[in-house]
Amino acid sequence: MEVVNDNSCGWINNLDPRAEIKSLNSNENCEWIIIGAGYTGLSAARKLGQLHPNQKIILIDAQLAGEGASSRNSGYLVDTTLNDGFTSNKELETYKRKASIYELGIQVVKKFVKEYQVDCDWNECGKFFASSNYKDEKTLINFSETLKKLGFEHNLFSKNELKKKLGTNFYSIALHTKGGILLHPGKLVRAMIDTLPENVQLFENTSLLKWESINDKVKCYFKNGIINSQKVIFATNGFLRSLGIKKYYNFPLTLTASMTRSLSDKEYKSIGEPNEWGVLPVRPMGATIRMTKDRRILIRNTAEVHNPFKMAKINLNERSFKQTIGIKKRFPQLPDNIIQSTWSGIVSRTRNSSQIFEKIDNNIFVAGCYNGSGIGVGTLFGEQIAMKASKENTQEIKIIEGRNKPTWLPPEPFLSLGIKTRLIYERIRARSEI
Ligand SMILES: Cc1cc2nc3c(=O)[nH]c(=O)nc-3n(C[C@H](O)[C@H](O)[C@H](O)COP(=O)(O)OP(=O)(O)OC[C@H]3O[C@@H](n4cnc5c(N)ncnc54)[C@H](O)[C@@H]3O)c2cc1C
Repeated sequence: MEVVNDNSCGWINNLDPRAEIKSLNSNENCEWIIIGAGYTGLSAARKLGQLHPNQKIILIDAQLAGEGASSRNSGYLVDTTLNDGFTSNKELETYKRKASIYELGIQVVKKFVKEYQVDCDWNECGKFFASSNYKDEKTLINFSETLKKLGFEHNLFSKNELKKKLGTNFYSIALHTKGGILLHPGKLVRAMIDTLPENVQLFENTSLLKWESINDKVKCYFKNGIINSQKVIFATNGFLRSLGIKKYYNFPLTLTASMTRSLSDKEYKSIGEPNEWGVLPVRPMGATIRMTKDRRILIRNTAEVHNPFKMAKINLNERSFKQTIGIKKRFPQLPDNIIQSTWSGIVSRTRNSSQIFEKIDNNIFVAGCYNGSGIGVGTLFGEQIAMKASKENTQEIKIIEGRNKPTWLPPEPFLSLGIKTRLIYERIRARSEI
């Protein structure tokens, strides 16, 4: 299966191209191999490098490191979620466990950013859960009760207040949580690549084609070489299923996002010169929309089952059109041709929105499936799966393993049919919010 993304991601194109890209061209033996170099794989590699300075660690990616979902997301490092894609959090205890994992995720990213002095446009401005529909007030009041019980600082906002904060009168009601950070996801993941320990060898544009476990060793096959490793960590997230890993527990979804050029002074004035902000939808499948530090508007309002994974230009253009409508609904004074880039990215989902963190055999480990919380949780899970694979016990592992486990998914074609039906239903419910 081809694992390549489009080259039109606004976050990635905002960075300098990297030099010294190495691909695998020989056979290798090593103690550790990590497949997938997003937040999870990079974090696992960093931790293994620190734990085993004299061992050989190989990190592999099918494309350029970090240029999968880890650079393509909306940049919300979340402390709380109202929806997990298209399911809602109901039980307090489950929610509490989930939020404690988010908190650990924030701490681990914060530590990395501080330790390596990373400039990733870090802004602790919190985030809004907003709706244009007064009917959603009840959902937000219930959510507010949950947050109160768990001690999360938050406020409810009215239409007039939102107009001042966001520069649009589209939204009628919102709940703002104080925790949560907005950042530039591409800059964060780039820093993780630049600071890999010396005993980690990175091979890019090197797709894992096949793997097998023989006598407690793992044999990985690539186009130009074979790697024999003592242990493997799979960190391919949306591509876990395509490698046959936990295939009855996860499935990929394709999201698309668009980013405008920077608003001109005149345009920025026309919307009231708001500070940077981020809005998540109250209804699952509504639009995520963000005003960046450099006055760009980012919008994500699609989630779909899409094969093949790479989205053709013509499909991206269709999504871009929908996203222009989403922006114009909120900012009618802006021109029609303001979108500068549109891209797709693959996330991984489980049926009950729980993450995967597991030893699947003596020497085979896997972490993934974070939906819209992978910046923090992926970074945390990468580090902690490396600890688990190194037989270390940590408080974090205890907390992670106390979460609800992913539940079983039906086989194809029932799975795709079920997901598509659910997505259509949620899209109809959220039609005013797209
Ligand atoms: C549009 C969009 C918006 C999002 N918004 C947010 C957000 O605001 N906040 C948030 O926290 N999360 C968000 N997410 C989710 C977040 O990006 C992911 O959860 C996170 O990137 C997962 O990191 P990862 O390292 O596990 O996986 P990935 O970043 O997907 O990395 C997996 C890597 O594995 C590689 N790979 C796959 N198959 C193979 C193979 N066969 N051989 C070798 N390598 C392979 C891929 O090339 C890829 O680089 C969003 C995602 C998208 C797409």
